[in-house]
Amino acid sequence: MRMETLRHELAHVHARRLGLAGPKWFNEGFAQEFERPVQSEGEWIGDPFPADLARAREFADAGAAKKLVGWTTSEGLDSAELEERYTLSLSFVRFQLERNAGGTLVERARAVLATNPAAVEAEWLEWLRKLDAVARAAHAPRRRARARLARRP
Ligand SMILES: [Zn+2]
Repeated sequence: MRMETLRHELAHVHARRLGLAGPKWFNEGFAQEFERPVQSEGEWIGDPFPADLARAREFADAGAAKKLVGWTTSEGLDSAELEERYTLSLSFVRFQLERNAGGTLVERARAVLATNPAAVEAEWLEWLRKLDAVARAAHAPRRRARARLARRP
């Protein structure tokens, strides 16, 4: 099993134990947050700009929220539809986690869980359109960590 898959599945287990289980869009979006963590100041956080975040723009149009809300099982979906659902769920959860910044991760996750994607679809799509990969990469903790390591004797 790939490390990314292992982290994803462990995130599902841990989220359930914390009472953070809900609709499929939340469960899958939240688990993907932990697939490729980066270290920042001794803490592991989500990748500031996973490739799937940029890819979500290809799928994000009016009706994207409805697809997320209606996603109850992966049965019957082909690989392209699955990719779309997973990518959209990652981007929606990231959008809501950043929107609810300030609390602990569990508090923020609960706020995401309480959100109806359809109610904030317009803001979500606008956020996706405005994502600046270069600006986000410049703030990536991985880069700062590397710079710090480079200064060590
Ligand atoms: Zn999963």
